[in-house]
Amino acid sequence: MKHKVLLNKEIHPQAMNLLKQHFNILIADNPSEEALLKKCAEANAIITRTSSYINKKIIEASPKLKVISKTGVGVDNIDVSTATEKGILVCNVPGVNSVSVAEHTVALILAVAKDLLVMDKAVRKGEWGKRYSLKATELNQKKIGIIGFGSIGRKVVTICQSFQMKILVYDPYLVSSTVDKLSIDLVSNIEELFKKSDIISIHVPYNEKTHHLVNSSLLKMAKKGAILINTSRGQIINEKALFGALKDGSLSAAGLDVFEEEPVNISSPLLTLENVILTPHSAALTKECSARIAVEAAQAVIDVINGEKPRSVFNEGSLRKKGFVDFFT
Ligand code: NAD
Repeated sequence: MKHKVLLNKEIHPQAMNLLKQHFNILIADNPSEEALLKKCAEANAIITRTSSYINKKIIEASPKLKVISKTGVGVDNIDVSTATEKGILVCNVPGVNSVSVAEHTVALILAVAKDLLVMDKAVRKGEWGKRYSLKATELNQKKIGIIGFGSIGRKVVTICQSFQMKILVYDPYLVSSTVDKLSIDLVSNIEELFKKSDIISIHVPYNEKTHHLVNSSLLKMAKKGAILINTSRGQIINEKALFGALKDGSLSAAGLDVFEEEPVNISSPLLTLENVILTPHSAALTKECSARIAVEAAQAVIDVINGEKPRSVFNEGSLRKKGFVDFFT
């Protein structure tokens, strides 16, 4: 009898074809907890996108579950500690979406710096004179402050260096000798990064330490005219404080792919601001990347069911500490 995999939503056809060879596929009617609870009792594996929270209730209602696989790198929508308690592997796909997210980040930087949305609207409205508004800025020689120097942050830096931008990095977990030859300046605190950067871009995981990492007191330290870009997770910024900073001029503009609440509430005050460019958590959703992440997330559950170790088990360290070592030996 085939194992069963539960999906919170259909994923890329290449991955669906791969899964069909190994599993009976169950698809929830929608990504809600209620819909997942209806189908999880028989599931040996769950594959989830960001749109569901695989919480304690769902994990406890899935007695046959061996693996939860995320079609992305951030596992903040999975209750990893409950999964670990039960010896369930939590897999993710680090690095697989970093090219797409880094390119999207730079697209937001350029769109904001060049005032592209305002200019586009002006042409459509016959307001040709807008070309003299002189709000656009060059990136050349500007300082970009990167918060989080992992896969995505590093790729953003490589692209920005090709614009001859100067690079500041804040990442307390970095070993400075690993970045010696990279022509970047490491700063030891986030406040310094805010004070010195013309553009600030966030690339850290969301967890209890990064919740509202960017708050009103930090935003008040931003260099005059600074631009803030967030393609990591919405809850890393206090959105009320961000709105205030964009209104009172502490920041000149922002580019946001992620929000405290998703889908973003249509009545969110952020949506009223002309100096903000918004995308619907779509940074990783290029044609190429959506296929890659889905196939790799599918491969992870196939590996587990076949008794093989997937490329990335996010909770491997904690599973080992809890004595769930059989799988890894
Ligand atoms: P990564 O794990 O490779 O890098 C994260 C970096 O952040 C690490 O170097 C880590 O040391 C650093 N870090 C952790 N806590 C920090 C803190 N408090 N202050 C400063 N640095 C800190 O992850 P990645 O692949 O670069 O992805 C980063 C995040 O981007 C993910 O966790 C995910 O939430 C988000 N993401 C968003 C999308 C999207 O579609 N918008 C897609 C992929 C990833």
